[in-house]
Amino acid sequence: MINILDLTKEELKQWMVENGESKFRGEQVIGWIYKKVFNFDDMKNIPSSLKEKLKNNFSFSIPEIVEKYVSKDERTIKYLLKLRDNYIIEAVLMKYDYGNTVCLSTQVGCRMGCKFCASTIGGRLRNLSNGEILSEILVMEKDCNERVSNIVLMGTGEPFDNYDNVMKFIKEVNAEYGLNIGQRHITVSTCGIVPKIIDFANEKTQVTLAISLHSTTDENRKKIMPIANKYSIEELLEACRYYIKVTNRRITFEYSLVKGVNDSIEQAKELSLLLKGMLCHVNLIPVNEVKESGFVRATEKDIEGFRKVLENNGIEATVRKEMGGDINAACGQLRRDYVEKMRDKDVWVR
Ligand code: SF4
Repeated sequence: MINILDLTKEELKQWMVENGESKFRGEQVIGWIYKKVFNFDDMKNIPSSLKEKLKNNFSFSIPEIVEKYVSKDERTIKYLLKLRDNYIIEAVLMKYDYGNTVCLSTQVGCRMGCKFCASTIGGRLRNLSNGEILSEILVMEKDCNERVSNIVLMGTGEPFDNYDNVMKFIKEVNAEYGLNIGQRHITVSTCGIVPKIIDFANEKTQVTLAISLHSTTDENRKKIMPIANKYSIEELLEACRYYIKVTNRRITFEYSLVKGVNDSIEQAKELSLLLKGMLCHVNLIPVNEVKESGFVRATEKDIEGFRKVLENNGIEATVRKEMGGDINAACGQLRRDYVEKMRDKDVWVR
């Protein structure tokens, strides 16, 4: 059955017409969905005959919250969500003074193989549909009774490895009839799939693009990010320059600092040279320690030293503020731990 959340309003209106109903029934049903009514029987102004037709054709693939971790200050909530086929994904809600931000998954697992990331350890299991990505937000909003105003696609998965569904999601979430979240409040993070960066630039959105860079030389980048075997840093930065030219948007470069791997003053100088003159911002991330990777986070002193070098070279850089330190498991780690725990109980989840 089709997940009704995968349809845009126009597609649902079209379905209504093709099935002998008036277009405005599509608008009514969409209205209920965004009021978080996930059951056709509860849609009060929909006639019973149409409810039956809808039930025979569509399902609501709304994930179930299986675990929830709330930080002591209650400003960060990490969710483990179970999809209808028992796959588990992670999503996070962070309450900032300027509004609520959610970090969403776009795939179950990931095949990009970044060495510092727990999400990739079991590979990519499947893509999420646009409706499934959207439903992560709906479930969290409903659970907290709060509105979301910012989205980052930085959870499990490489968004550009699921390009079409991610683009459809962005259009939906931005639509006035939906959550109406402005494109400038959405960030897409990629490990650097160059042809998709070009495609994304050509979409001419106002979405913020974030690039996981993490190294200053191809040689070092290849050691931690297999995508670097396919595209050089030069090719990546060329695509970034194109994105800036077409959209006039500032790019964010993410740089996870790993002790003894990429946190030296020399590497900070190299990074400054690479990014010189670009409309960009560097987000320095003290790396989360993933037990399988053996990576150790850089010291506070080295992080600050690194940031200073960038600043002195005219590159704007900030250190990512850590929210919910007491529940700050690395991305993908909660899912892995939960799946293992359930297997011990003979419950089949993935
Ligand atoms: S960092 Fe992102 S792209 Fe890399 S393996 Fe993890 S989820 Fe995939």
